Amino acid sequence: MKLSALGEFGLIEKIRKLAAGSSPSVLIGIGDDAAALKITASASLLATTDMLIEGVHFDLAYTDFYSLGWKSAAANLSDIAAMGGTPRFCLTSLGIPPTASVEQLSEFYRGLNVLLEAHRTALVGGDTCSSPRGMTVCVTLLGEIERKNVISRGGAKPGDRIFVTGTLGDSAAGLEILRSEVRRQTSEVRNKESKSEIRNPRSAIAKLVQKHLRPEPRVAWGRKLALSRCAHAMIDVSDGLSSDLGHICGQSGTGAVIEAGNIPLSLPLRKTAAYLSKPPLPYALSGGEDYELLFTVPPAKIKKLLSLGLPAAEIGEITATRTMMIRDGEGRLTELRPTGYNHFARVPRRKAF
Ligand code: ADP
Ligand code: MG
Repeated sequence: MKLSALGEFGLIEKIRKLAAGSSPSVLIGIGDDAAALKITASASLLATTDMLIEGVHFDLAYTDFYSLGWKSAAANLSDIAAMGGTPRFCLTSLGIPPTASVEQLSEFYRGLNVLLEAHRTALVGGDTCSSPRGMTVCVTLLGEIERKNVISRGGAKPGDRIFVTGTLGDSAAGLEILRSEVRRQTSEVRNKESKSEIRNPRSAIAKLVQKHLRPEPRVAWGRKLALSRCAHAMIDVSDGLSSDLGHICGQSGTGAVIEAGNIPLSLPLRKTAAYLSKPPLPYALSGGEDYELLFTVPPAKIKKLLSLGLPAAEIGEITATRTMMIRDGEGRLTELRPTGYNHFARVPRRKAF
């Protein structure tokens, strides 16, 4: 059977079924942002790992090594944030191509360490190998959380309200700009794009590119949500709203209705989408790597949530029927399919930063 028949998430599900070593200490195993593992009666260890491959997740034509280090840390810190935990320890494993220099790798660790230090996380190990071609980065993050405060993807209940922090779609638009910049430099699209009648919104573009290359993991906000015990379910938006909401619904056995008009879109995204002559919403629905937190809150806890003062927007409701729907400005409901990134999908979109 070809991998494309299963897709990334079907394959992970298969691996989950084959997984060895079930143990009562595994509170949450394969299928969430991080595993939650019982270490004492009251504390859990959180463990997550993410691999970034040159040509799949990043392109060195527009990614400096400092940003690569930063983003490798951010993706993993974000998974700890999505469980409501505190990051503690980091391991980095590198496959290094012959083209890489010592200076570039120093920059990588400078970017990684700035973010780790900001989150009081220590680099404690890893592995170093040569790679015949292309750079591979694998970062593992260990964190901790009080057992009772863990927020999984699977706890959403019908009637819960759906919230998301920050704004969505900025990172995907930033990526598109970076790629088009590379194409422009190779003159492929120079003529076409110079015809745009809207003036190049330079500062808006810079903000989107920044969000793409140097995302801020929402660790403090995840912690607040965990300690307040407002949220039934949570995930970080790494694959795009439609896919990540799909993970919450899939794990919780629910569906959802999203109000398109309530999805938070930044002004830089709106301006840049207009410049690119594209609607802004698909960047939020299908574009990944925003690393915002998507979570569900029962109506009785909304007041408590609001008292936390998080920059979060209410975007919809969890439903009992297991389909995801989106309502447009005219009140029309259509099915919301997961259209975010999927490795091994039949027509994989290239993910890069
Ligand atoms: P995220 O986007 O939050 O990083 P992923 O979609 O990468 O999450 O992974 C979802 C779940 O599947 C996680 O629990 C992860 O640990 C698990 N997983 C992914 N690939 C594998 C694998 N090859 N073996 C075991 N578990 C895996
Ligand atoms: Mg995640």
